[in-house]
Amino acid sequence: MGRRDIWQVQRTGGSPEQEQLLRSRTQLATFGADDLDRLIADLLSTMSSYSICVGLASTQIGVPLRVAIVRRSDADPLVLINPEVTATSGKKDSKRESCMSIWGLCGEVERRDKVRVRYQDRSGASVEEQFHGFESRVVQHEIDHLDGVLYDERLNTDASLESIDIFAGLTPQASDSGVS
Ligand SMILES: [Zn+2]
Repeated sequence: MGRRDIWQVQRTGGSPEQEQLLRSRTQLATFGADDLDRLIADLLSTMSSYSICVGLASTQIGVPLRVAIVRRSDADPLVLINPEVTATSGKKDSKRESCMSIWGLCGEVERRDKVRVRYQDRSGASVEEQFHGFESRVVQHEIDHLDGVLYDERLNTDASLESIDIFAGLTPQASDSGVS
């Protein structure tokens, strides 16, 4: 399969079915199933085809399993299987977020600086890890996806969705690029 279309909310061109799945809680992923390896490979190949994409959750390619990936600057992408937030801490910080499933828009969201997460790695081992700063924000955004929560539900009270030009020239459809 490889690169996949990125599902959208209706506001940015998705179908009602796509939006419903994007806003639904995912099911735990099962190890030993071939579709888990394929899902991870498809997530990685889809993310790597967009330089603006710093994280991607399974629902964004239409799969309701508890798996997400996060880009890291100095290491291979983080693969979060069945992640759960165990603690958040640090100061609250407001920043503009955008999402590949709310194409072309952004909005200001307040999050804590640090998040501690328990997840399974690709071998099935249980890992607990703390993230901070930008990486923490991305991890929290991706785990929200797995709970069926998009950032437009977390906008600061006085914030609204605005256009952002980082999406210029890109489309969420894999077929448009000739890459499959
Ligand atoms: Zn997102």
